[in-house]
Amino acid sequence: MTRRRWIADTWDEATASLTGEQASHLIRVLRAQAGMEFDIVAGDRVWHGIIAGITGDQVRFNLVAEVESDPALPVTLLLSVFKFDRMEWTIEKATELGVERIVPVIARRTEKHLGQSAAGRVERWRKIAHQAAQQSRRSDVPVIEDPLPLKTAAKREGEAVKLLLAEQERTTTLRRALVESLCLEEGMTGCDELLPVRLAVGPEGGWTAEEEALFDSEGWKAVSLGPRILRAETAAITALAVVAAMLE
Ligand code: SAM
Repeated sequence: MTRRRWIADTWDEATASLTGEQASHLIRVLRAQAGMEFDIVAGDRVWHGIIAGITGDQVRFNLVAEVESDPALPVTLLLSVFKFDRMEWTIEKATELGVERIVPVIARRTEKHLGQSAAGRVERWRKIAHQAAQQSRRSDVPVIEDPLPLKTAAKREGEAVKLLLAEQERTTTLRRALVESLCLEEGMTGCDELLPVRLAVGPEGGWTAEEEALFDSEGWKAVSLGPRILRAETAAITALAVVAAMLE
């Protein structure tokens, strides 16, 4: 049976609670009553939960049995900040596709006013990710980091398959780069199938030559999604879909 899923605000070994807006929605819109059954995400585990009590703006659940949880796609998306309505759409869809972490990045061609107001948007982006995770029955919520200048973001990603989405790249496709970096074909050696993946998507105006050089010096590989120029949000979601199709 498919049960609606909630991500608990607090929990211990045997119980979990929803508070604030989530509890209020469950109480007032879904008319919560003791005995109703849901799936409850508590930390990194998912449980079959039964409402044990409702007090004020809090719903408490007894956690009766653990349910199998599915891990996030081991992918971080460095997403250059672009128009906020499209950023929100991208965060929602990336969450549905399983992204593990999103780092909003202030690139050279990020529109100035968007870059300046990005920090004030992060809580809203986290809320969108939370709702999308719940709706898509994920067992975790992707981390949405505070916005970072591109230089900092490109430098700190450590050991991973680091792929720069670049529309002028003509030789290496995203698919090929994943196959070669993660040994996805039989008999391949010299690569590490367990490495996490990092994808960087540029702003509407694209990357500057200096940014591409910086990525290159930090070990990022430029990859293509084909000969057409995609909008940033299309590129982000297409790239995630390709990774998901190859890794899951
Ligand atoms: N420089 C461009 C221009 O103004 O003509 C377009 C930039 S595109 C709208 C925004 C971002 O999407 C790019 O920086 C890149 O990361 C990604 N992108 C778009 N099309 C792509 C493709 N065919 N292959 C790889 N990445 C692509």
